[in-house]
Amino acid sequence: MTDSNTTLRQPVIFLGHGSPMNVVEDNDFRTAWQGLGTEFGPQARWPRPKAILCISAHWVTQGWWLTAMAQPRTIHDFGGFPQVLFEQHYPAPGAPELAQAWAQSLRQAHDQSPLGLDHDWGLDHGSWGVLKPMFPQADIPVVQLSIDLGRPGPEHLAMGRQLRALRDQGVLIVASGNLVHNLMVRNPQATEQEAYEWALVFDQWVCESLASGDIERLAQFEALGPLMQKAHPSIEHYLPLLYAVGARDDDEPVVTFNDAWQMASIDMRSFIWG
Ligand code: ZN
Repeated sequence: MTDSNTTLRQPVIFLGHGSPMNVVEDNDFRTAWQGLGTEFGPQARWPRPKAILCISAHWVTQGWWLTAMAQPRTIHDFGGFPQVLFEQHYPAPGAPELAQAWAQSLRQAHDQSPLGLDHDWGLDHGSWGVLKPMFPQADIPVVQLSIDLGRPGPEHLAMGRQLRALRDQGVLIVASGNLVHNLMVRNPQATEQEAYEWALVFDQWVCESLASGDIERLAQFEALGPLMQKAHPSIEHYLPLLYAVGARDDDEPVVTFNDAWQMASIDMRSFIWG
């Protein structure tokens, strides 16, 4: 794809996905995802995407990989949930030709070699769990980009910057994680308005970094020390944010949605640029 056409231009979205149950529960989060989906198409705010590139917290690898199969499977990568969740499927097609092209045009952040092409993964719940409410027809091709968990923050930001150009080619970038994600201290009794104090502090640190344009700070998250450990005992749910932030234009306004909490330690705040 070499055409650059502003009439194809897509936004970039960071989605807090939270509990897998959000895909089947009738709640405010899913309602927002459903509403977001209606903003794409003829006469809508954005054109229908030609393809979706999804970065999910749930696909971490060594090196960066793209799914390259024609029919990605729906992966039920969770346990201890009701049967109805295991019966969910999202039969969106893949896009092998796009994946092959992107494997060459995008490059590994650490050594500039081509991205890997994967034929085993599919769509994990970080992807299909949000795409199913947004695009229930499952008729837009989806490619997942993995996260090389071992690489430093600035390289994830750099990978995100590489994705910018795809937006003008009709590719919707969806980065799916959570701004705060600590399952060890989750409180099932908490309302959507309740959060731990440290969780609120971390949430505000992200918002202030975005508002001030201090994007590099977001990639230097280790500097937060104990606050980072508390907000993200493991960092895979944070890293998708860096891809979304990298793929936005510097002067692009941001819209926040789903600014609420699940179980006091999962931040559902989501962003859309474009
Ligand atoms: Zn998750």
